Amino acid sequence: MNAEIIGVGTELLLGQIADTNAQHISTALAEIGVDVHRHTAVGDNPKRMTLVIKEALARCDAVIITGGLGPTPDDITREGVAAALGLELRRDPELVALIRAIFKIRNRAMPESNLRQADLPAGARAIAPEGTAPGFTLDGPTGVIFALPGVPWEMKAMLEKAVLPELTVRSGAAAIVSRQILVLGLGESLTHEKIADLVDAQTNPTIAYLAGKGQVRVRVTAKAGSQANAAALIDPVEEAIRARLGPAAVPGDHDSLTTALPAMLLARAATVAAAESLTGGLIGVELTRGPGASEFFRGSLVCYSDEAKRDVAGVPQSVLDRSGAVSEQTAAALAEGAASRLGADLGVAATGVAGPGEQGGQPVGTVFVGACWGGRTVARRAFTYGDRDNIRALAVTAALDLGRRMIEGTA
Ligand code: ATP
Ligand code: MG
Repeated sequence: MNAEIIGVGTELLLGQIADTNAQHISTALAEIGVDVHRHTAVGDNPKRMTLVIKEALARCDAVIITGGLGPTPDDITREGVAAALGLELRRDPELVALIRAIFKIRNRAMPESNLRQADLPAGARAIAPEGTAPGFTLDGPTGVIFALPGVPWEMKAMLEKAVLPELTVRSGAAAIVSRQILVLGLGESLTHEKIADLVDAQTNPTIAYLAGKGQVRVRVTAKAGSQANAAALIDPVEEAIRARLGPAAVPGDHDSLTTALPAMLLARAATVAAAESLTGGLIGVELTRGPGASEFFRGSLVCYSDEAKRDVAGVPQSVLDRSGAVSEQTAAALAEGAASRLGADLGVAATGVAGPGEQGGQPVGTVFVGACWGGRTVARRAFTYGDRDNIRALAVTAALDLGRRMIEGTA
């Protein structure tokens, strides 16, 4: 079974909001084995909406629409679906009673225009409102349509209660399982080179790449009759990929080091501290992104000036004089200073030139990262490129990755 998702709302086209509803629905459909073929966004325009719905129905088995079910005149999804199928709108008496009751309970006067929300295309079945907007399901001649409100929490609740159970039954309960292998320090083309023959040989599972921000995610996706069978198809392929990629592949199923490094620290009951120059606290931001960061994160010393590197992180003046603030030696001393001053098992550090101008004769993008763990300290140059934001983001990733490799013993 395949599906398309349509986001309704001019806000989407103006870029005021992102279509997170489509993202959420796609993830949920993948888990029950429904293939999503397209995401479309359309504004609150009757003609274009009708056309988009017609086109989607002609292509796929299930169309899921979000948004445009409110009471205001620009909420026209009901009309759009009715027009696409050549149906009339009928006012549903049960929904009228329900909407009146909702307002009564809230002790608010109801504008008569709100009763538009009780209008359904002929033959549609209402999905009970979570807030005030009802959704609906409609069996068309070529496929099923679900119309859900745009408000994310209302949409999610209806998806769980009304859409997924019905699609699970209709699709014969197949399952799609995805797992990703996070790859650092190789780049997309080298990653591809190492596993290209595996990628070409596979049809189930399929293998795809997602590259960006100094990392590559290799996503392995399998389809089978059940989640367990799909997972079993992934296991040997994942193993083969990891064997090819070696230490560049991060253990576990992670989007980024933001979750991978904490998982490694927690598994060892270990802690981390950072000392940051060009990243100005961004390493700390990454390490505190998830809940429970206090379990493993001691703190981050932001030492931008040479004086701060010396006085706050304890970098010896002699190192600064001899090697300069942007150097392997300073990166190493920063990592050691962070670990010892903040009492952490792992110390990580980044120092460099974020730009736009050069600094002390060193070009923009010169970055050194350091890490210390278990009595060893390693520092190295990090590969960076792009603008100031990009250079700083790559420096964060490089510092965290060096920390990760120190823990694994592969640095
Ligand atoms: P309401 O009854 O609240 O008007 P509605 O079904 O008419 O619901 P919209 O008016 O289209 O929905 O959207 C309501 C709000 O829901 C939007 O302002 C936006 O914040 C959010 N929203 C709408 N569509 C999406 C989407 N595709 N992804 C994420 N958020 C969305
Ligand atoms: Mg609305």
